[in-house]
Amino acid sequence: MKMFNRRSLIKAMAAAGVAGSAFGLQACSNNVRSTSGKKVVVIGGGFGGSTVAKYIKRYDSSVDVTIIEPKKTYMTCPGSNWYLAGLVDVEYLTHDYESLKSEHDINVIHQMATSVDKAKQTVTLDDGQVLAYDRLVVSPGIDFRWDAIEGYSEEASEILPHAWKAGPQTELLAKQIKEMPQGGRFLMVAPPNPFRCGPGPYERLSMVADYFKRHNPTATIMCLDPKNKFSKQSLFMGGWRELYGQMIEWYGAIDGATVTKIDVENKTVYSEFDTITADVINVIPAQKAGKIAFDIGLTDDSGWCPVHQGTFESKLHKGIYVVGDSCIAGAMPKSGHSASVQGKHCAAAVVTDLNGLDMPAIRTVNTCYSLVGSEYGISVVGVYEPVDGVLKGVEGAGGVSKGAASLEERKQEANYAFSWYQSITKDIWHS
Ligand SMILES: Cc1cc2nc3c(=O)[nH]c(=O)nc-3n(C[C@H](O)[C@H](O)[C@H](O)COP(=O)(O)OP(=O)(O)OC[C@H]3O[C@@H](n4cnc5c(N)ncnc54)[C@H](O)[C@@H]3O)c2cc1C
Repeated sequence: MKMFNRRSLIKAMAAAGVAGSAFGLQACSNNVRSTSGKKVVVIGGGFGGSTVAKYIKRYDSSVDVTIIEPKKTYMTCPGSNWYLAGLVDVEYLTHDYESLKSEHDINVIHQMATSVDKAKQTVTLDDGQVLAYDRLVVSPGIDFRWDAIEGYSEEASEILPHAWKAGPQTELLAKQIKEMPQGGRFLMVAPPNPFRCGPGPYERLSMVADYFKRHNPTATIMCLDPKNKFSKQSLFMGGWRELYGQMIEWYGAIDGATVTKIDVENKTVYSEFDTITADVINVIPAQKAGKIAFDIGLTDDSGWCPVHQGTFESKLHKGIYVVGDSCIAGAMPKSGHSASVQGKHCAAAVVTDLNGLDMPAIRTVNTCYSLVGSEYGISVVGVYEPVDGVLKGVEGAGGVSKGAASLEERKQEANYAFSWYQSITKDIWHS
């Protein structure tokens, strides 16, 4: 077994690209204790949880790491809009836990975590198993605020899908798009802030348009949005005009487009803007932290989990960490890329904590590619560091794709989007 030592930790963190500029030899005292036998339990095997688990083992293989995740395979939300356009299949988006188990010696238990006893430091699973932990990491993603729109419920989502957690919902929406009558109307009800994946709804409108352009060219697409602006808006809107003419209509809060009621049976949506009936309705509800985060008592009044934004340790419970969509991470968007890099910082924080070392300051990054068309990509990059305890964008770093670009440049960005997907999923699940 590879044992933890100060030099190997520094090397591994630097290789993972998580070491901030302040991270150096001075960050690690010579007073290293063995973590042998220490147990870390990770709730959730998505972008955040799987990364934390893998990188804890990479930094200190003597730690006993267990992921609790009900699904035997994980279908990613990133790329699920591409699936709606028919650009990739379900296999492309689906990842298993074999490499984490066999190559990284991580225990993976396919159960739901149902409760946590913080005093005893134990997690209870659906089948009654009780697991002890020294440190707990929670990365359960999002849940929906089902009471946000009158008439829309979890049951209603079986008819008007949200497809905001990848899996059967994504397949249902794809089926409805395929079966939509020629010249029919697709309507999206977009979510209010904050929500998982800022550009996601607008990439979805684009991918639905890409599909209709080829298979249902007289179809129309409408988006009713409770916000007045969205991520990469001018790039999306420019691309929509360039590729789809007038096919996509977007209305925001200023137009009265905040949806207040939905009649599921009659596929009708009510807002001040208008009462609209459509053939396919995709409702993306308002969101909050994953349920288990509420059950453990990790959320505040906002419905999300406050954490120390350099270590991702909960501000409410010492020894419990929260990464990914559920945590409050300042200016960092809720994305798979963010969840994964937060997972690497959190792994470093857990290992340094278990070894009695100081966690160095972090500097971190998010990248988000979106497809506006199958050969038309755009992107945004942000670099963040904690300022007075809150992750803020580093001035002069990051940026978005240029407004005026050739179709060749947009095609190159589309290729980068696929490369990004391949490399991040390989890093988390397959290497
Ligand atoms: C359509 C769409 C497109 C997107 N595109 C992009 C993109 O291009 N790039 C990008 O960076 N991000 C993208 N995202 C965002 C990305 O999917 C999320 O930000 C990311 O999945 C968050 O990771 P997470 O670990 O917080 O949650 P998740 O990846 O959702 O993982 C949470 C896991 O926890 C498990 N879980 C929940 N509760 C429990 C429990 N009690 N016990 C055990 N397990 C539990 C769940 O089964 C789940 O597998 C997109 C999202 C959507 C919806």
